[in-house]
Amino acid sequence: MARLAISLLLISLLVLLAQAGDSVLGYTDTPTITGQTWKVHDSTRPHPRKVAPGRLLSSLPDPADAEILFDGHSLSKWQMKSRAGEFAAANWKVENGYVEIVSPQGMRWNMITKDKYGDCQVHLEWMIPAEVNGRGQAGGNSGVELMSRYEVQVLESYENVTYADGQAAALYGQHPPLVNVSPKKGEWNSYDIYFTAPRFDGDKLVKPAYVTVVHNGVLVHHHQEILGPAAHRRNAPYKAHAPEEPLSLQDHGHPVRYRNIWIRRL
Ligand code: MG
Repeated sequence: MARLAISLLLISLLVLLAQAGDSVLGYTDTPTITGQTWKVHDSTRPHPRKVAPGRLLSSLPDPADAEILFDGHSLSKWQMKSRAGEFAAANWKVENGYVEIVSPQGMRWNMITKDKYGDCQVHLEWMIPAEVNGRGQAGGNSGVELMSRYEVQVLESYENVTYADGQAAALYGQHPPLVNVSPKKGEWNSYDIYFTAPRFDGDKLVKPAYVTVVHNGVLVHHHQEILGPAAHRRNAPYKAHAPEEPLSLQDHGHPVRYRNIWIRRL
């Protein structure tokens, strides 16, 4: 009888795992990432080890030459841009010194800077509210999209497990972070991003983009080569674009919060 109960329990667990689907834990039918041995969103790729965050960097004052993109009150430096290329006034919710993603139409509108940037240093802070309960990529998904296309992933990755190249601080679909510095939901994170834009000669890529990312004070990408624009389930090749493009915060349909956003041109 006990054996039967255990078998039934195991079967239900397997069914649950199967129902979880590839979109939560990754895929096995995607192409190999250019220059790597892993597949895009590879479900067998090891997850980086966890490191408890150090001190948040938000207590440091903004550098004197930083351009303040969000001071806790005004979205005057921002506008909305839809996947279809329409523009609208910035309309995410500003309260208590942060801006929270509001997406009534779900994953349609990103909030992008009105100004454009190439090589830059970006500081921002983000938080997944404690009420967010999705799994995998539905666990408080957003992203910092450099030049509106090279994504540093934002996601709850303290408890929530997803494919390694899609967890918090991953260069989405390309490189997992070196370590996982995610705090619990409801706690603020900081990103300090040092970005070198790609160089093009006409349509030809001359030099790829590189990025260094510090998550909660810990190095998670060290002058990492970006392989192309972030993409789901595929390798996206570089496509020539202007030397400066807007910084974009990704709407993935979840109420992620941002605060204290500044940028320095390099
Ligand atoms: Mg994202």
